[in-house]
Amino acid sequence: MAIVLPDLPYQKDALTPYISAKTLDFHHGKHHNAYVTNLNKLIEGTDLAGEALEAIIQKTVNVADKAAIFNNAAQVWNHTFYWQSMRPDGGGLPMGHIAKKIDADFGGYDNFIEQLKNAGLTQFGSGWAWLVMKDNRLEIMKTANADTPIAHGVKPLLTVDVWEHAYYLDYQNGRGSYLEAFINNLINWEFVNSHLG
Ligand code: MN
Repeated sequence: MAIVLPDLPYQKDALTPYISAKTLDFHHGKHHNAYVTNLNKLIEGTDLAGEALEAIIQKTVNVADKAAIFNNAAQVWNHTFYWQSMRPDGGGLPMGHIAKKIDADFGGYDNFIEQLKNAGLTQFGSGWAWLVMKDNRLEIMKTANADTPIAHGVKPLLTVDVWEHAYYLDYQNGRGSYLEAFINNLINWEFVNSHLG
């Protein structure tokens, strides 16, 4: 059973003007798809073929001769989580359980968005910024390249891709503008709440 590229959870033009259909076309159709294709080639005929994506990530993290498998598997997982972290007419003030948890653990929404934006801006080169749950506390985390919280026993609640391919067509080198659009207009708070239980 091969790993499959999941469909986007919305139409390709659904996130305009913050993320264009052209960006989603390349990002999902070319980049995400390439990770799926590469992963399937790498695991074909090995004992990882037929394993679930999460199991492949767990079994290859920090294994030197499995780095290519880990990188492609983690990128498949991270992108699927990123698409779900966004929605049309999203962003802005959180609602429900996560709103209370942000107030409790960050001392308010403003501090939360400052930390999330800072993590995205200061991730040198390619990577991801995350809202995660660690020891029942919310934390901001950043990971380099393909690395993912699920490889380290940390539960992700939200992610933003800060690889240049995520924003270059729409914002060129303006990573900060992209992060502001993500925070103000795209975050899917229902998705975040769905992980809080
Ligand atoms: Mn990406």
